[in-house]
Amino acid sequence: MDKLIESDKAKEFRLLIEESEKIVLTCHVRPDGDAIGSTLGLWHLLRSLGKEAVVVVPDKAPVSLSFLPGFKELAVYTCHKEYCETTVSSADLIICCDFNTPSRQDALAPVIQNAHCRKVLVDHHQEPDEFADLMISYPDMSSTCEVCFRVIAAMGFFGEVNLDCATCLLTGIITDTRNFSVNIKHSDIYEILMRLLDKGADKERIVKEALNTRSYWSLRLEAYALSERMRIFPHHRAALITLDRETLERFHYERGDTEGLVNRPLEIKGVAYSIFMRQDSDCVKVSGRSVGGFPVSEICKQLFGGGGHLQAAGGEFYGTLEDCEQLLIDNMSRFDRYLSKAPHERIVM
Ligand code: 5GP
Ligand code: MN
Repeated sequence: MDKLIESDKAKEFRLLIEESEKIVLTCHVRPDGDAIGSTLGLWHLLRSLGKEAVVVVPDKAPVSLSFLPGFKELAVYTCHKEYCETTVSSADLIICCDFNTPSRQDALAPVIQNAHCRKVLVDHHQEPDEFADLMISYPDMSSTCEVCFRVIAAMGFFGEVNLDCATCLLTGIITDTRNFSVNIKHSDIYEILMRLLDKGADKERIVKEALNTRSYWSLRLEAYALSERMRIFPHHRAALITLDRETLERFHYERGDTEGLVNRPLEIKGVAYSIFMRQDSDCVKVSGRSVGGFPVSEICKQLFGGGGHLQAAGGEFYGTLEDCEQLLIDNMSRFDRYLSKAPHERIVM
């Protein structure tokens, strides 16, 4: 299971951990299950190794993850700026999880980048920037939590994985694979699942809490979005959902409420990709998902300055929601060449 991790990298990581006393773990803005699962998972491991560790996140994590052990200990940069800055500046090692470029940390980016200590990247996104001293990057893995598990095993720390660590790691794997249904390239992920279950992780509870629990308003917002705000573009085999501020306020929107919404149009037979645009306070947040190998990451990269994975990507647009929508519609035909030409692959309405 640890064979996919280069042994010199595991050795170097182990040495860096052993040499450090104060360790900061950090992840991307608008953190998801994999970002929080990987940072908190490694946090539990480091604590069982007797290290002083702090997880510093750029902004608040969704309440759907509040069941995770250690969630209350997260240091949120937007809430406790000074504490986070002092902690980062006094760290002797920073472990960056689940992002491939510093800009994914928003305002926290310069704080992390200007820190003088050594940095390790643990990630699974394509084409990472070389911003860390040690790059543990495996884009063909399902999740950063999968990378974490394998690297922990490769470092010889499997014995130090406790129930809390196992719970966090399994959560990231479950959220990034949508309960083992997408993004799986290595079949031994099921062996990893077995090992985490053996540590006592409660899969049923994780699936319920992290994937299948939501607020009343969030469910209503999703129903409204699908019924009133979803447009289908049959020629491009595309679906687009947009939500403006007014609608979000009407449905008492809270962070995390639209998690998973972008996946729903993919349930329609023939839809190759789905784009969701949400008007946030500072920008329009764009999310893309696709099936059948359509590279939705290209759309996010070329039109919205973002990226991610081939079939799950995102970006941002600075302008009005209408302009964002128009930009996509005007450029849809450019991406038609990626659509499979098989005649049965049509949208059935
Ligand atoms: P989500 O749609 O859940 O926000 O993100 C899906 C995937 O795209 C994640 O793997 C995430 O890291 C990536 N992603 C989301 N937003 C951005 C962005 O603004 N820039 C880049 N480079 N990647 C993003
Ligand atoms: Mn991830």
